[in-house]
Amino acid sequence: MKPLLTTLLLLFVVNSFSQTDQKIYDIIDAVSADRIKNDVKTLADFGTRHTLSDTVSNTRGIGAARRWIKSEFDKISSDCNNCLEVSYQKDLIKKGDGARIVHDVWVVNVLAIKRGTKYPNRYIIMSGDIDSRVSNATDFTSDSPGANDNASGMAGTIEAARVLSKYQFENSIIFVGLSGEEQGLYGGKGLANHALKNNWEIIGVLNNDMIGNIKGVDGVIDNRTFRIFSEPVPPTETEQQRRSRRFYGGEVDGISRQLARYVHKTVKTYMPEMNPMMVYRLDRFGRGGHHRPFNDVGFSGIRIMEAHENYTQQHQDIRTENGINYGDTFEHVNFPYAKKLTAVNAINLASLASAPPAPKNVAIGGIVQPSAKFKWDKVDGAVGYKIYWRDTTSPTWDNSRFVGDVSEFMLEGIVIDNYFFGVASVGKDGYESPVVFPSKTFR
Ligand SMILES: [Zn+2]
Repeated sequence: MKPLLTTLLLLFVVNSFSQTDQKIYDIIDAVSADRIKNDVKTLADFGTRHTLSDTVSNTRGIGAARRWIKSEFDKISSDCNNCLEVSYQKDLIKKGDGARIVHDVWVVNVLAIKRGTKYPNRYIIMSGDIDSRVSNATDFTSDSPGANDNASGMAGTIEAARVLSKYQFENSIIFVGLSGEEQGLYGGKGLANHALKNNWEIIGVLNNDMIGNIKGVDGVIDNRTFRIFSEPVPPTETEQQRRSRRFYGGEVDGISRQLARYVHKTVKTYMPEMNPMMVYRLDRFGRGGHHRPFNDVGFSGIRIMEAHENYTQQHQDIRTENGINYGDTFEHVNFPYAKKLTAVNAINLASLASAPPAPKNVAIGGIVQPSAKFKWDKVDGAVGYKIYWRDTTSPTWDNSRFVGDVSEFMLEGIVIDNYFFGVASVGKDGYESPVVFPSKTFR
């Protein structure tokens, strides 16, 4: 009887894990390069999507673009029994608020929320940008197709909404087109404040900004590598937290970095042909993106983007100079690659939206002892917990042990000094929360 029961249990476990795997592979396969291509074309054909551009025309300007994005989300929603809550979120920005705001403007974001069945107020967010620009950041009339920057990220976000609308998730997913990026990250700021005001619990933000270029300005052609930017620790940390990092570590283990590692691991597991490249910095050198306003208020957020940029095709007036065609036009975007990066988002959204909340109050002990030990508060929905550890010089969580449904554990023979550690929650289908770096110590 006992061996039979064990066998049945094992079969059940193996079966549920393979169903999880199959679902993730199905999501990857469902992402369509053609639909992304059509949507990038449509967005580029609005002429300009500059934040300060025309809002009345139905064929040109950011007004037409955002109404079209809303209508796409509405269409997706009506195809899934109204499974998306589609809305605008907007803030009035006054002339002179920043150097690039040359007249009063409503910065309008378009949101589609797929409400979570178990944790409706916990959100994982995928963002792209609606707006575009040319050489002069305040030129809101010239043609500015912004095909890669950032119609690619916007189209990827719409496509991920299409694919994931066919599934149910325990946590809420927000698909959002942000505006005002090129004028000073206004749309992200607006939504981050909206999230704070409404007490949204943010699991993380996957910001997509330029996901379609495979041919770098340096001549490198690479359709496998992409970058995941994450800041080391939140800018909101307290002086006390900063001081304790000196003694307990955590310099490269903030919440955004854990989100970056999560994406890296999911891709390595399910899309082994891809080459995710974690970059240990907030963003490109001195440059900005829409994950930052979320980081600014203490939310975890990362930037997902191509590995090789082409600066002759970013923020450029359309022109030919010395035989070089400048401008961010449709024909430079590689759609099979944009499909891959959209799938990267979709499987991480699905995984995070299916996972229980991360363990709370994770504490570590084991000073001058032969073994490291851990305590944490259990969370609703977890069937167990996984302790992760890595060499202090390793970028990834290389070692792990599933320890079951307990709230404390000792790793025998693992000396606390020689590794970094973290704990994740594991849900019934094997989906895991991001890893939590200990924030407390005990003896
Ligand atoms: Zn840009």
